[in-house]
Amino acid sequence: MSVAAGSCAARKGIEAGGRVLAINGSPVRDEIDLLFLAADARLKIMYVPPLLGVREPCSRLCDGKPGVLLGGGKRPPSTSAAGEKQGASMACALQNDTLGKPSAAALRGTSGVKMHSAPRQIVIVKPPDAPLGIEIEAIRPRGCRNKCVFCFIDQNPPRLRRPLYFKDEDFRLSFTHGHYITATNLTRADLDRIAGQRLSPLYISVHATPHELRCRMLGVNPAKTPDLLDVLRFLADRRIEFHAQIVLCPGWNDGVALERTLDDLESFLPALLSVAVVPVGLTVHREGLPRLEPVTPRLAGEVIAQVQPRQKRLRRKLGHRIALLADEFYLLAGAEPPRYTPDEISSQIENGVGMIADFWQGWPSRATTTANAAGATASSAAGATASSAAGTGAAAATAANSATAARAIPKSLAQPRRVAILTGLLGARVLEPLAARLNKVRGLDLRVIALENSLYGRGVTVSGLLPGADFERGLESAQANGADLVLLPGNALRPHDNRFLDDLLLDDLQTRHPSIRVQAVHGGACDILAAILSG
Ligand code: SF4
Repeated sequence: MSVAAGSCAARKGIEAGGRVLAINGSPVRDEIDLLFLAADARLKIMYVPPLLGVREPCSRLCDGKPGVLLGGGKRPPSTSAAGEKQGASMACALQNDTLGKPSAAALRGTSGVKMHSAPRQIVIVKPPDAPLGIEIEAIRPRGCRNKCVFCFIDQNPPRLRRPLYFKDEDFRLSFTHGHYITATNLTRADLDRIAGQRLSPLYISVHATPHELRCRMLGVNPAKTPDLLDVLRFLADRRIEFHAQIVLCPGWNDGVALERTLDDLESFLPALLSVAVVPVGLTVHREGLPRLEPVTPRLAGEVIAQVQPRQKRLRRKLGHRIALLADEFYLLAGAEPPRYTPDEISSQIENGVGMIADFWQGWPSRATTTANAAGATASSAAGATASSAAGTGAAAATAANSATAARAIPKSLAQPRRVAILTGLLGARVLEPLAARLNKVRGLDLRVIALENSLYGRGVTVSGLLPGADFERGLESAQANGADLVLLPGNALRPHDNRFLDDLLLDDLQTRHPSIRVQAVHGGACDILAAILSG
């Protein structure tokens, strides 16, 4: 753990590299325990200092073993880093790559904590809820033992980064980072802890409420798996709220099963905060996996028609649709997505709900239905803060300057320029209308280049899962067309090092193509405009 200089903890001699065993007699197993227990005003901390001269964290601790290390554990970013998803299960793959996952050593179960002195008690008196000044290592996630028929991680190609194959299923990360869990590994002690520490809201992968069907979808033994409805009842009775998700797999949990599942979930209102229905994402790497069909445009239309009356009824009653469909359903069906309120989508945007509206946020006039629908997908491709690629020095586009830019679409450019936007197949449908509008600006030649996913196959159409090799192909095409600026979706990059899924660095792309400026854009239509004008 790290200890902030001048904090309560530092003033009492707590040092980085030490270990907190217990507070007020309760064991400290992880950062949630620490936060929970440190909220009191008077703390008796059982603490093991590091040996003289040892200031480095030794390793992560195993789950449930009291005593958190005081080290430089990197706090994971929010799940928004997971980026655009094609089916909720896909989120697992991406979030594992961006969150504070175990090191390779930790994944091997290495334990190296050996060099500590004898424990001692430290008493700290502070205002209630004042921070201790201790930051401990990120939670080492529990692994998932399910074998979901639609699991995106199982559909990964070989030779990707190791964390992309890690399946986590940990209620603690559900609370701290909004990770979806199936709750199949929750013990009675876990449930008691959730209730006792008020770990609310949680994020629950439901998929189907009929027990047998759910277990078939999760690939688990129904006799050894708790019925989810019992788990949800336990939570709701103790006022633990939850968001839910359903990965819709045609022929499995659509139609009557979907209706029953939504009915069952609705019975948990007000503990149920929202439920997102997401179409299954299928890659070409499904050898040996159960046969699944993609959601067709026709089925997408049927699902919209099925869920709409429920949305209307719940909205009239509660001011919230509760049952939300991922934008992809509307894109597939060619239908207008609902005009969600920010409150409705804030916890489900990572599931692709409301991303279309988010893409057009701040744009001066609403685009056509198709444009709006496509925009949602492109928003993932384009990201929220424009970041300059390879040190090109382009200004970051903030929300504020985006809105300003949107109000000031110029009639002409001082210097003519050719710009290409690289994106996935769905993103291209969104961006085309934007390009048509911006091509009215004299001197601007804006083209959208749609990239097929060579890593996952044509069925994976979102931009956030495109590998660097595909962007390189697009870049060459843009260069052949004489582009001087290429914009690509920021969500295709790992945030902390601008690395694509196939390990290619954005810097490498830029270095290999010095005559063309490459810029990653995070955000929507306004951010794209800002990036074009800032060049
Ligand atoms: S819960 Fe299912 S979809 Fe999620 S990681 Fe585990 S097997 Fe994959």
